[in-house]
Amino acid sequence: YNIIQDKNSNRERLMINIDRLMDDLTELAKIGRSPGGGITRRCFSREDREARNWLVDKFKSCGLTVNIDPAGNITGRLEGRGPSVVCGSHIDTIVDGGMYDGSLGVLGALECVRTIKEKGYDVSSPIEVISFTDEEERFIGFLGSYAFTGQIDTELVIKARDESGISLIEAMASFGFNLRELPKAARKKEDIKAFIELHVEQGPILEKRGVPVGIVECVKGNYRYRLTARGRRNHAGFPMTGRKDAFAILFSLLNRTFKARAEIGNEDTLMTVGVFEVEPGLENVISGHAYCSLDFRDKDQGVLDLIEAELKRGAEELNNKYGVDIDIETILKIAPVYFDQNINAVVRSSAEELGIEWISLQSGAGHDAQVLGLSFPSAMIFVPSHEGLSHCPEEHTSRDDIEKGVNVLFNTLLKLAR
Ligand SMILES: [Zn+2]
Repeated sequence: YNIIQDKNSNRERLMINIDRLMDDLTELAKIGRSPGGGITRRCFSREDREARNWLVDKFKSCGLTVNIDPAGNITGRLEGRGPSVVCGSHIDTIVDGGMYDGSLGVLGALECVRTIKEKGYDVSSPIEVISFTDEEERFIGFLGSYAFTGQIDTELVIKARDESGISLIEAMASFGFNLRELPKAARKKEDIKAFIELHVEQGPILEKRGVPVGIVECVKGNYRYRLTARGRRNHAGFPMTGRKDAFAILFSLLNRTFKARAEIGNEDTLMTVGVFEVEPGLENVISGHAYCSLDFRDKDQGVLDLIEAELKRGAEELNNKYGVDIDIETILKIAPVYFDQNINAVVRSSAEELGIEWISLQSGAGHDAQVLGLSFPSAMIFVPSHEGLSHCPEEHTSRDDIEKGVNVLFNTLLKLAR
């Protein structure tokens, strides 16, 4: 008898309307879609404006109170008493992105709130569905979440330009926003009791394990550098001894640093060289100048610091050995962010009550939740990405996995906002 009753109550909790959510995702994906299927809705573009208007209308038609803050973050609020539970992600995309990255987190949250309203669930806290500005770094990655948490760097905002030279200030102005007002987007600690973001995994682990839900333990810290070696350009017929080959020197520094990664870190320690260029770039000329990027990520800041120390020691040794000049410029230094253990426990129990399998994961990619996590108790739920693909038109998550993930989110919100 108990088992039957449990099953019934579980079914009752599987409440969200997946058809309605899929319709919303499909409708939003029409904005900025290219013939090839990719979606381009860059922050403060014409497509972004259209998507923002669509979202505001959607929020209004669901009876939510709409607010657009001075950073352009859009919230749809289900009224209540006391501090808010905030839930959402972003609707901007990269060039030729997919239809789930970000959008799923915003529209999934909307579907949860819509279900709460429709079924008359008794929640006491306000729930705010949010879409953050410029998550995808047309100008400044996480502009919206930095403003929301009062971490805006004014100098950075003034300097920021996209790759075509359009300034952030200019783009903001065309949407009616200005720098002076930006600090007013900051929310008080006591106004928000929890933030939660549903997102596609953008990696292969959930699909490989056949599990529909990932509870994110942390977002890995991320150190990034620009390495430049200045050697001496010369003819390829020059003897091996006495060369100052910029490519060879940079290559051996990278080799050494990749070895350090293997010794200091583990398989969750990620290292990437995304850019490597040599000058003059001729087949019969020893390169006089070489430049590359180096990006590494780990959940343990101690590991990142040790690898950085090895990188610097390696550069110094090579400088001394060859009498060259390797320059290390730091581009990024983001500490790992650990999510709130209490909220994670609520997500876990929500999944278990529904009989939905979950595993714990680390995120290698950055998310709004990692910025929010510095100011408010925060958490993230992942759903599988087919073949781990994201930031491309092929990005896909099955309808079944979306339904499970959003139902876990729904039950989590019910508990957090009780
Ligand atoms: Zn995203």
